[in-house]
Amino acid sequence: MKGLAMLRIGEIGWIEKERPACGPRDAIVRPLALAPCTSDVHTVWEGAIGDRHNLILGHEALGIVDEVGSEVKDFKPGDRVIVPAITPDWETDAAQRGFPSQTGGPLGGWKFSNTKDGVFGEFFHVNLADYNLAHLPEGMSLEAGVMLPDMLSTGFMGAENAKIKIGSTVAVLGIGPVGLSAVAGAKLRGAGRIFGVGTRPASVKVAKEYGATNIVNYKEGDTVEQIRNATNGEGVDAVIVAGGGPDIMMDAINVAKPGSVISNINYFGSGLGEQDIIPLPRIGWGFGMADKNIMTGLCPGGRVRMERLAEVVMCGRMDPSLMATHVFKGFDKLEEALLLMKAKPKDLIKPVVIVEE
Ligand code: NAD
Ligand code: ZN
Repeated sequence: MKGLAMLRIGEIGWIEKERPACGPRDAIVRPLALAPCTSDVHTVWEGAIGDRHNLILGHEALGIVDEVGSEVKDFKPGDRVIVPAITPDWETDAAQRGFPSQTGGPLGGWKFSNTKDGVFGEFFHVNLADYNLAHLPEGMSLEAGVMLPDMLSTGFMGAENAKIKIGSTVAVLGIGPVGLSAVAGAKLRGAGRIFGVGTRPASVKVAKEYGATNIVNYKEGDTVEQIRNATNGEGVDAVIVAGGGPDIMMDAINVAKPGSVISNINYFGSGLGEQDIIPLPRIGWGFGMADKNIMTGLCPGGRVRMERLAEVVMCGRMDPSLMATHVFKGFDKLEEALLLMKAKPKDLIKPVVIVEE
């Protein structure tokens, strides 16, 4: 079978591989719709998680079940499914402690395009199918559905971890597709004012539709100053970090008020040195004592998460398809879509590849 792979740091290409084998509790799935992620860009072109050789990329997919193992109960060949980006080993210690995305070590629930071949192949393997697949609801568009495995799950986690209360003031730093999903998540959690910090016109438009009440252009002025000015100098109750380099944490802490949560969902992609640091402002952080608490998390995976996200969409709470600005048809278009994600033209939010209708 064919797949679009990371050949080595900085290089992608199409390769031939054996079709994966199916274990008794697993499934083999073929893609229905796929989306490249900024994380694929960090992985390949910034070498963020180290070198990988001939590893098939991709972790955002809707699929059609092709084969199931003898012990799989709820899925059969032909079923249309949502495939979470994160597919934890649900019987492990970390899952039982409540951190399924971190099974088998930090980020261990992230298998596709990290520790095994991803979803950009003609077939891909899903571990523990009954726990890591969800049925694609009848009537959900592929453009909407393919945002669930990672964009909605990660962005909503950003809002959940930020402990937003009804009426909380929230700032979302970075309004690419992850930040936009966080804006929508903040609104769903009952936020009052939501500052969307970003510049791309396509993103600004969707940020407003998803619930941003204020747009802050960080290129035209200092983010912290602009948000402080708009909040009587106080800052915000919750910050969701969804873009930028390590320095973004300076803005995040400085714009947060005491008693706030800074919820990071950003993947700090560059550099692998043990000495690399992410700076925090000493004074802005109250010398380490200002009750400004930092939360982190990897995208939640698994079946129940996907089913809940599907409920949000099917009940009309938000429309994730607004983020699908560039829609390609056919598996062969994957490379073009991934390179577009790398180039990030101004009119792009998220490219999507429809493999089968
Ligand atoms: P994106 O690049 O489309 O969006 C991020 C935006 O932030 C860009 O538009 C960028 O211009 C903007 N930005 C840069 N500096 C900024 C600043 N100082 N202030 C405000 N905005 C700034 O990326 P995306 O696809 O939305 O993904 C966002 C991040 O989330 C990436 O690092 C991605 O790898 C990561 N991610 C994490 C998880 C997770 O599980 N935690 C899952 C998926 C993606
Ligand atoms: Zn991703």
